[in-house]
Amino acid sequence: MKNEVLIVGGGVAGCAAAIALARNGRAVTLFERETTPRHKVCGEFLSGEALEDLHALGIDVSTLGAVPLEYVRLAAARRAAEAPLPFKAASLTRKSLDTALIAGTITAGVRVVRGQSVKSLDRKTTGLWQATLEDGTSFEAPTAFLATGKHDLRGHGRPKDPHQWVAFKMYYQLSPAQTAELKGASELTLYSGGYGGIQPVEEGLANFCCVVKQPYFARAGLRWEGLIARMQQDCPHLAMRLAGAEPQLDKPIAITHIPYGFLRRTTDEGLYCIGDQAAVIPSFTGDGISIALHTARRAVASFIASESAPAFQAKLRSAMLPQMRLAEAAANGLNNPLARAILPFCLRVWPGAMRVTARLTRVTQPAAPVPQAFAN
Ligand SMILES: Cc1cc2nc3c(=O)[nH]c(=O)nc-3n(C[C@H](O)[C@H](O)[C@H](O)COP(=O)(O)OP(=O)(O)OC[C@H]3O[C@@H](n4cnc5c(N)ncnc54)[C@H](O)[C@@H]3O)c2cc1C
Repeated sequence: MKNEVLIVGGGVAGCAAAIALARNGRAVTLFERETTPRHKVCGEFLSGEALEDLHALGIDVSTLGAVPLEYVRLAAARRAAEAPLPFKAASLTRKSLDTALIAGTITAGVRVVRGQSVKSLDRKTTGLWQATLEDGTSFEAPTAFLATGKHDLRGHGRPKDPHQWVAFKMYYQLSPAQTAELKGASELTLYSGGYGGIQPVEEGLANFCCVVKQPYFARAGLRWEGLIARMQQDCPHLAMRLAGAEPQLDKPIAITHIPYGFLRRTTDEGLYCIGDQAAVIPSFTGDGISIALHTARRAVASFIASESAPAFQAKLRSAMLPQMRLAEAAANGLNNPLARAILPFCLRVWPGAMRVTARLTRVTQPAAPVPQAFAN
């Protein structure tokens, strides 16, 4: 098979782009370094936009065991307040979502090469993109999509994270009383060094995912046990939620160096950067998956319309800039002690604040033509 497009990374953005391209008759090879999907650090919140895009790709999350979410609760110190979510939302483990996406990619007719990392992606003097795997095998095509998520490929790196964020995810079995309290809710808990989200996911589990600055983690002794104790001290609401909870993983999954606020400025001819390789929005928005799907959809539309990759990347950047900057400003607010103290109070007296923030920090839909896979 003669490749038209190589896609590096078989997560949300890579699979979404692969399915859309294959449904539009393109010969695609996708590379995914894992043999089977694994747990990933993610709050696993699926926004309304994400649900719509997944549906258009043939993925109905309700059949995969997704849990509907109806409201958001904000807790800082001893205060908590809640507001209804202004859109349909759900939660689903990344393992289930990534499994469905890879299955959909194979069904769409994409050649999927799994179990090896792409070591390099270079543009040859012929103008073709060449992806070279760990075992030295290489593949060539005129176009490549870079969708490696948080992993940077040599020569295509993103800037360093100046704040040294550290993120963790742990599944808990909550006590029956706390499971009932959390039903239908996505809870955001705030600390002096970051924030965390807790929400129900399938099979009666709760996902607790947090992001903290490195000095806060250091003051907790650079150990998970110290960190979770410190966060519960900072936010007694979290302590209440986790009382009697049983951790379901031997140790939390962790990642470091998350370049929040990154928006790729430019790219090379024939190379479309999507997902976290295009933009990294602060995690509290719960919008990263939606952005991964959105950037995949726009990149495929641009490729099909024969728009150049640098033009695509520049347009994407200017379309996303306002939402990204607003989300960053809101994230800074969450890290400000005064804002943290008054936020739940504000939400109680003005519940619309959460709805407004949720709307403003979401990505606006593009005017670009919609590729076939997303057009149902
Ligand atoms: C703490 C935290 C919480 C978050 N919570 C949420 C949330 O609740 N809701 C939400 O919508 N978003 C959330 N996000 C963001 C979301 O997880 C990401 O934005 C989204 O997964 C990006 O999709 P992607 O396709 O770019 O990357 P991924 O889905 O991570 O996919 C990248 C894939 O590329 C593969 N890969 C990497 N390198 C190579 C290589 N060299 N060769 C081959 N394959 C490779 C990886 O194995 C992976 O499967 C959160 C992020 C963080 C850090």
